[in-house]
Amino acid sequence: MKRWLPFTILFAVLFLCFLAHSLSNYSVAVFLQQKNEVRVTYYDDEGKPFPPVLLKDTVVVLDAGHGGIDPGKVGVSGVLEREINLEIVFRLAQALTGRGYTVVLTRTGEEGLYQEGSANKKREDMANRVRIIQKANAALTISIHQNSYPDASVFGAQVFYHEGSAEGRRAAECIQQGIRQAAAESGERSAKGNKTYYLLTHTDSVAVIVECGFLTNPAEEKLLTTAAYQEQIVSGIVNGVEAYFSSAK
Ligand SMILES: [Zn+2]
Repeated sequence: MKRWLPFTILFAVLFLCFLAHSLSNYSVAVFLQQKNEVRVTYYDDEGKPFPPVLLKDTVVVLDAGHGGIDPGKVGVSGVLEREINLEIVFRLAQALTGRGYTVVLTRTGEEGLYQEGSANKKREDMANRVRIIQKANAALTISIHQNSYPDASVFGAQVFYHEGSAEGRRAAECIQQGIRQAAAESGERSAKGNKTYYLLTHTDSVAVIVECGFLTNPAEEKLLTTAAYQEQIVSGIVNGVEAYFSSAK
């Protein structure tokens, strides 16, 4: 039964979207591809994209970190990283779709990307994420995570890129700046290079990891659970994505 859970959650979310949109005479078209992989586009009654945007060919993969047996970081008051990651990814999917991007999600439910009987669930999970990114031919991949640190006073958002990727660095710097401007409480960090993160080293896509904040900081943990702060982070990421694609390569 568990394999249907992502669908159940997805359809519950989409049903609510559908309700909201039907009230304003808009309909929702959803293209399910495979398990845990979904493209979402909103259309109005005349088949035009809603909000009225020019659809771009640009594919952006959104990866909600962790899932299933892997909760990710656990906050000081018990908040689970995997849940915050998914909430932010859903908001980001809606915002980027509204700007005309084709959005592909690596997961749409609380489960991880592995079979129950798998001998190494974590490895299978990460390999499946990479498979989706590669298959989507993503122009940009954004992996959403939350951070932790032994010192509870440490806070702030930080974007990581592969040290060997000039484009990754450019994307990360655009997104870091976007977040800094849109979310006043996200601190003053700079984008940072990394050589070891699996997702950064195993994909051809320009990829960034957005650590939205520290679940070990009580104030930031609380902020990250609110719709208002999640939307600030999301609008910062979206502004960064727009800046990245509109600037010269
Ligand atoms: Zn994480």
